[in-house]
Amino acid sequence: MGTEERAESFSGEAGRLRKIIHIDMDAFYASVEQRDNPDLRGKPVAVGGSRERGVVAAASYEARKFGVHSAMPSIAAKRKCPDLIFVKPRFDAYKAISLQIREIFAEYTPIIEPLSLDEAYLDVTENLKGIALATQLAEEIRAKIRAETGLTASAGVSYNKFLAKLASDHRKPDGLFVITPKMGPAFVETLPVRKFHGVGPATARKMSGLGIETGFDLKGQTLEFLQQHFGKVSSYYYWAARGVDDRPVRADRIRKSVGAENTFPADLFAYEAARDALREIVDKVWDYCEGSGIRGRTVTLKVKFANFQIITRSRTGQMPVRTRSELEQLGDALLEPLFPVVRGIRLLGISMSSLGAEGAEQPEFSLPV
Ligand SMILES: [Mg+2]
Repeated sequence: MGTEERAESFSGEAGRLRKIIHIDMDAFYASVEQRDNPDLRGKPVAVGGSRERGVVAAASYEARKFGVHSAMPSIAAKRKCPDLIFVKPRFDAYKAISLQIREIFAEYTPIIEPLSLDEAYLDVTENLKGIALATQLAEEIRAKIRAETGLTASAGVSYNKFLAKLASDHRKPDGLFVITPKMGPAFVETLPVRKFHGVGPATARKMSGLGIETGFDLKGQTLEFLQQHFGKVSSYYYWAARGVDDRPVRADRIRKSVGAENTFPADLFAYEAARDALREIVDKVWDYCEGSGIRGRTVTLKVKFANFQIITRSRTGQMPVRTRSELEQLGDALLEPLFPVVRGIRLLGISMSSLGAEGAEQPEFSLPV
């Protein structure tokens, strides 16, 4: 199929046009550290070891202004920015937030492909909210991430993975950018090849040696020429240079829990208020269970306090939870001992795991998320 026909099929048939969102947390590890330690806010921060052999895992935007970036040796970073503050990474904290944002994604689409703790592709062509505009959806997801984690994310919206990823980088931090099918080919032409996902420094140098500096230059090469120099990956380059990328968003995660949570407009202090709030969340979860036939043996209560500290309490029964009121009672039994609370409760969530289908003898059951 020629390039022209290919481009046509994207804009011509609505059924073929995909809607892909790439979400990327902004300076993730560094932002988490600044969120959790007010002394670090507004300052150049590097997450990573400060020792001789240390490497910067992530740099705050304040540090980036000095030219500090991830994968840079700590010694070099310190030379560039003498006031740089080094913080030890806390991967457990990053993982917990990563799960939180993936739960948010799952409210919108089951087709999620995480690239790392802080990045994922979402295919929202068909989405769980029935929202037609992918841009609106991306804004909602960004707002939700901010409300629930206190962190910012950037989003790229486009008709394939290659462009969605480029788009999320375009308005960073805390930005959103859309590359429509009309804009795609021209956007890629002006792009330096080192910005292409999958083109590392070595490949970029090699391309430069062949006179290929931009997407436009790359587009000028035949597939045969590229194959001679770059082998198997060439057809990806060839089509990417034309704004074409048919790689699917691969959702290979398995649903391990079903749950819901709610962030409150005002923090809750009284047990009664929290119990009532939990009932509404139980309703949501149980509705899902009714609809899907999924039941779980483990009930987990999640509580986030005003200072963003998260605690969980869980209990595992011999048998799956059978009724809504049983779920409510179990949730309540986990909630009550937490009172009185020192800090207000910002969020409550309840989930069931160790899932099985209703009445199934085999407890193993999985649903793609
Ligand atoms: Mg990121």
